[in-house]
Amino acid sequence: MYKNTLDYAIQLDKEDKLSYLREEFHIPKDKNGNDWLYFTGNSLGLQPKRTQQYIQQELDDWAKYGVEGHFEGKTPWLPYHEFLTDKMAKVVGAKPLEVVVMNTLTTNLHLLMVSFYQPTQKKFKIVIESDAFPSDRYAVGSQLKFHGFNLEEGLIEWKPREGEELLRIEDLEKIVEEQGDEIALLLIGGVNYYTGQYLDLKRIAEIGHAKNCMVGIDLAHGAGNISPELHDSGVDFAAWCTYKYLNSGPGSLAGLFVHEKHADNKKLPRFAGWWNHNKETRFNMRQPFDVMAGAEGWQLSNPPILSMAAIRASLDMFDEVGMIDLREKSEKLTGYFEYLIQQINTDRIRIITPSNPKERGCQLSIQVKNADKSLHQKLTENNIITDWREPDVIRCAPVPMYNSFQDVFKMVEILKSLV
Ligand SMILES: *Cc1c(COP(=O)(O)O)cnc(C)c1O
Repeated sequence: MYKNTLDYAIQLDKEDKLSYLREEFHIPKDKNGNDWLYFTGNSLGLQPKRTQQYIQQELDDWAKYGVEGHFEGKTPWLPYHEFLTDKMAKVVGAKPLEVVVMNTLTTNLHLLMVSFYQPTQKKFKIVIESDAFPSDRYAVGSQLKFHGFNLEEGLIEWKPREGEELLRIEDLEKIVEEQGDEIALLLIGGVNYYTGQYLDLKRIAEIGHAKNCMVGIDLAHGAGNISPELHDSGVDFAAWCTYKYLNSGPGSLAGLFVHEKHADNKKLPRFAGWWNHNKETRFNMRQPFDVMAGAEGWQLSNPPILSMAAIRASLDMFDEVGMIDLREKSEKLTGYFEYLIQQINTDRIRIITPSNPKERGCQLSIQVKNADKSLHQKLTENNIITDWREPDVIRCAPVPMYNSFQDVFKMVEILKSLV
């Protein structure tokens, strides 16, 4: 159905009802003024033009009101996180009660494990994917150690089978069936950062819960990319950053989800600060700690407003467009990308990401046999920004908000000439 010509790519861009969005982003350019072919929205999303205005508003209110900006600002700082909640909840398919924006991703994973990783001498193991993002692996390892367990005993890896790259849900099922009595927690990347595989969150939750294991999801590569339907999936908790697909700026704050079923459980162990204390009495200052219900009950501090403003700018865009239309374009764009790569006449190139659009987001991980980092270097010299993972994988994410069908076409033409 697709065609391997520039004219056809131009045609697809013309038919794309979201093509206007590209104009709303700053697209980096080379010294001759040509747009980079930017495929690393999975690492750092591009800057929406409106972000500056949102941050400027907070700088202006700070200049104008000082501390009174907490109440007098156009978007008062005191309840600022509440302005983000509904829209963030929509992006991940959650109820507003279940979502809050706070801290950074790895910090949130730790705070969530304080509550949801409650090991006993018998039930203490944690399952992660063998290709888990390093930060998640370190976080989990340090939690095991913190509770007095060693890694070798405590960490179980869900691995692809010999000669395969993708994970099979049956293999997780088997691990949990066999060792479930010793497993306290499954902490899984909902969309794997390396292969781009989107796992069935609902199945993972069912598998874990059947053996009384807690189930947490890292959605760093999912939020703003796929529609994870977190509430319906039934997972206990999740966390994600906002600087990847959510275009909120380097090191920006993260999202946190705690399923409604835990919303009123005041007995859950957790760390406390003034921001998870009942907001009605927060400023009386001498009250005994009274935890807030829902995801807000995991906050500690008043948040950095400048970063929150960037998230607000981005979420407003997501809300205006909606995940349904974004996903529709994304499937088509990535499908076109896949088609073009398959047209390259070589056995050196293989896509390791699942071919089923329901099992992936926008990213394709492309393995180039016998390649080394010089290929990545050459791509970069041609204005193609991708992510290289040793030994031989290029990760490319055509992002439906700002990448075009022509981007994808041009990228593959250059890749073809290089291999
Ligand atoms: C990007 C990413 C991180 C980064 O963690 P920070 O705490 O934001 O630095 C962690 N885990 C996964 C799966 C990621 O993709």
